[in-house]
Amino acid sequence: MALELTVLGSSGSHTGPGRACAGHLLANDGTRVMLDAGNGATANLQRHMDFADLDAVVVSHRHVDHCIDLVGMFYLLKFHPDGPQQVDLYTAPGVVDLLTGLLSGDSKMQFREVFRVHDIAPGDRFEVGGMDVELFPSIHPVPTLSARIEVGDTVFAYSADSAGGDDLVACARDADLFLCEATWQGDPAGLPDGIHLTATEAGRIAGQAGADRLVLTHLLGTLDRDRSLEEAAATFPGSDVSLADDNLTWTVA
Ligand SMILES: [Zn+2]
Ligand SMILES: [Zn+2]
Repeated sequence: MALELTVLGSSGSHTGPGRACAGHLLANDGTRVMLDAGNGATANLQRHMDFADLDAVVVSHRHVDHCIDLVGMFYLLKFHPDGPQQVDLYTAPGVVDLLTGLLSGDSKMQFREVFRVHDIAPGDRFEVGGMDVELFPSIHPVPTLSARIEVGDTVFAYSADSAGGDDLVACARDADLFLCEATWQGDPAGLPDGIHLTATEAGRIAGQAGADRLVLTHLLGTLDRDRSLEEAAATFPGSDVSLADDNLTWTVA
């Protein structure tokens, strides 16, 4: 089976009408990795598979719209019908402290029993099944990791939340599919620096990276989505730009 991406949540910062926050399922030859677990993303995941059957979850940063669903999944694993389950959790700084702060009693300790926690940092590389994962530093107000995932010659890149920069271009270099945040649209003047990208900027970065295909995600739920698509297409020299939407699947290669 070729590497496949299924979007589990495409809304940025807050849920949109019928849309969950950041979550993505990568599947290849029986290996399945969830990238981010924002509000509602695990509800969509369970349309496709049992959360306990994931090989790993990778969380890019500690903002709620990328990690909060792991609290509910802790209980699913702990009280799973087949008995307590474990899942590997590769996570950026601060995520486990944030989530265990929402738990009480024994659950605080048990979180690290049902999730086998691996701390991750920029420059780290690790393998899950046949997927080679490489992490890049993102420009964002809290420590955040963009991810490049290679399976053989197939390259998938995910910006996470990012204000762009050279590291994001390197992360997405020659990607077959670049899933890039486009939280905002229109003129970036007046928007705060160092947090997110506009659709225009996402298109430009995908072009600098030489990505084959660009999929825009993390759009604020209140935006005109067609306008974001037009703005990214205007700066992306490739022709293949699309919008992420919940439960849509792309073959990456
Ligand atoms: Zn976000
Ligand atoms: Zn964020």
